[in-house]
Amino acid sequence: MPLRVTFLGTAGAVPTTNRNPSGIHVAREGEELLFDAGEGTQRQMMRFGTGFSISHLFVTHLHGDHVLGIPGLLQTMDFNDREESLAVHTPHGTRRQLKGLVNALGNRPSFPVRINEVGDGDVAYRADEFEVRAFGTDHDTQSVGYALVEDDRKGRFDREHAEELGVPVGPKFSKLHNGEPVELEDGTVVDPEQVVGEPRPGRSLVYTGDTRPTVATIEAADEPDLLIHDATFAEDRADRAAKTAHSTAQQAAEIANRAGTDRLALMHISSRYAGHTGDHLAEARDVFDGEVFVPEDGDVIELEYMDADET
Ligand SMILES: [Zn+2]
Ligand SMILES: [Zn+2]
Repeated sequence: MPLRVTFLGTAGAVPTTNRNPSGIHVAREGEELLFDAGEGTQRQMMRFGTGFSISHLFVTHLHGDHVLGIPGLLQTMDFNDREESLAVHTPHGTRRQLKGLVNALGNRPSFPVRINEVGDGDVAYRADEFEVRAFGTDHDTQSVGYALVEDDRKGRFDREHAEELGVPVGPKFSKLHNGEPVELEDGTVVDPEQVVGEPRPGRSLVYTGDTRPTVATIEAADEPDLLIHDATFAEDRADRAAKTAHSTAQQAAEIANRAGTDRLALMHISSRYAGHTGDHLAEARDVFDGEVFVPEDGDVIELEYMDADET
């Protein structure tokens, strides 16, 4: 089952010719989610072929480079005769401002838009097989990050062993796999523990939005497969990062280490670095052994299960 992340916009507060303001599209088994919607997000969605069928928009904070794309995106959805409702999650205390963006210039979308305020530890969205949690971040306004965490999957079914125990191939197999004991014709009872392995972890990703380094990011998910972290500056502007409530690439890497992630995406690159992200990468690699990259707009990452041989 694919879990696909498309980086729509990777710029800092000011866009560049190559980088759009923040936006991340996540697709999972027919469900599409959007994290932040900086100005121009709808065109990035067209350029990179994600489509507009998002059911949820998760807003990290109400700075323009994360939300000014909302009015245009919603108006285009309206022109497309969208009927499905859209849920917009936003930090506590921002409902009124967000409503202003949704109804910008007096345009009221003809489809339902539900605004949901979230804070540290809240489950913003509970789906069938995963949830999206909000966690507190440290920016200079009300802000949260989001962690998408899949449920554990069933343990592996040991077909060979089941047959050895005399379980006939058929419905009893799925019963056992679903955690129910079965009785054989001779009266023997086979318990699921005999033929089903330990539950296997799902996948997870964490997106911080704009923030100084925080412990909440480390605790947002257990060893996430992907951490997308604010890395607005390199170490040469560490003082500026602290002052403006952002992170350096190296700080992001230290958080990545402590979070136990395999993969770190350095986001929200300041326009001061133009196309030069060599320092970001080198400084992050100094402290983090996993895979580090600076995504470009349009880059796509597929997250695999740890045991990738089956779903
Ligand atoms: Zn920003
Ligand atoms: Zn910001």
